[in-house]
Amino acid sequence: MSRFLLKKYASLAPYVPGEQPKTGGYIKLNTNESPFPPSEKAREEYIKAFDRLNLYNDPENGALAAAIAERFGLEASNVLLTNGSDEALAFIYTAYADAEHPFAAPEISYGFYPVFSQLTGAENVTFPLKPDCSVDAEAFVKTKHNVVFANPNAQTGTAMPPGDVERIVAASPSRIVAVDEAYVDFGTESAAGLIKKYPNLIVVRTFSKSRSLAGGRIGFALSSAEIVSDLKRIKYSFNPYNLGRAAEAAALGALKDEKYFSECVARVIEAREYTASEAKRLGMDVVDGKANFLLMRSGLIDGGELKDRLFAEKIIVRHFSTPFLAPYIRVTIGSMDEMKAFIKVLENILKGAVK
Ligand code: PMP
Repeated sequence: MSRFLLKKYASLAPYVPGEQPKTGGYIKLNTNESPFPPSEKAREEYIKAFDRLNLYNDPENGALAAAIAERFGLEASNVLLTNGSDEALAFIYTAYADAEHPFAAPEISYGFYPVFSQLTGAENVTFPLKPDCSVDAEAFVKTKHNVVFANPNAQTGTAMPPGDVERIVAASPSRIVAVDEAYVDFGTESAAGLIKKYPNLIVVRTFSKSRSLAGGRIGFALSSAEIVSDLKRIKYSFNPYNLGRAAEAAALGALKDEKYFSECVARVIEAREYTASEAKRLGMDVVDGKANFLLMRSGLIDGGELKDRLFAEKIIVRHFSTPFLAPYIRVTIGSMDEMKAFIKVLENILKGAVK
């Protein structure tokens, strides 16, 4: 840290994503990416865009905004394109969070929310999960603060029923409710249908997971035109061209390939159900997850050690050392072959484990 850094940033603890190994040979189940390549249509559009990379792109990403709006029955003025959904979340916090206006989030959720709170000088208000690891909707109905939660929730994968999401949004028009739907396509209903009814709702989405485009960094927020214009005010104050031409083209291509999208999602869900039932057969305690990952723990081996033992067998999973999550590992759902390999290695590790 240099002596020039502003004091308010000195204690900032940046978000640390899961590792990206520099060498091959691993089964990578640690960062909730898709095991499947991007759609062929995404490739075609991406390559076409390359020939025009000498030109700045459309600052509004109008073609993609229109395609997304059509998909959700909204107008382009309800859509903001961002570099990954992380950036949409960053703009939301920048626009609406400060010391007087904190966001409330589930105590166990996406690790970026506390970082955004710290960055914007807002208190990190959290509510504990329920004993079954699901998000306590009631706490979010009652709070006066702005609200952010992931649905399905991050790290646990639990899904909140659509009725509860609407109760939270409807409870007070005078606070922002941001629903982070990074994993929604794997088994939950989106809140996007509520946007016309509730101007305080923001739905945050990404092409990183179900659309196999994590490296393209394509995210978006859906909301009322007033909120989208607030977020654009922030976006254009940082960088007017922040979703690149090639990324936009790939996203447009991916949107044209609903068949591939549905097949990939169905394969992930099938592999998730296989993994959950096999892990339970091996005695693991598996949280009922509806995302492209599962949170699970063994009564015999601590999460950190289990992660290391899997790593020694070339399987990378995620482990979080916070007290609630420490006993668990979070396993991204890969292809069926990858999950069969995971279960085989897990079985061997557990066979030798005694407490
Ligand atoms: N929200 C949640 C809950 C996530 O897990 C992630 C992925 N790390 C993101 C948002 C951000 O994803 P991206 O920036 O790739 O769209």
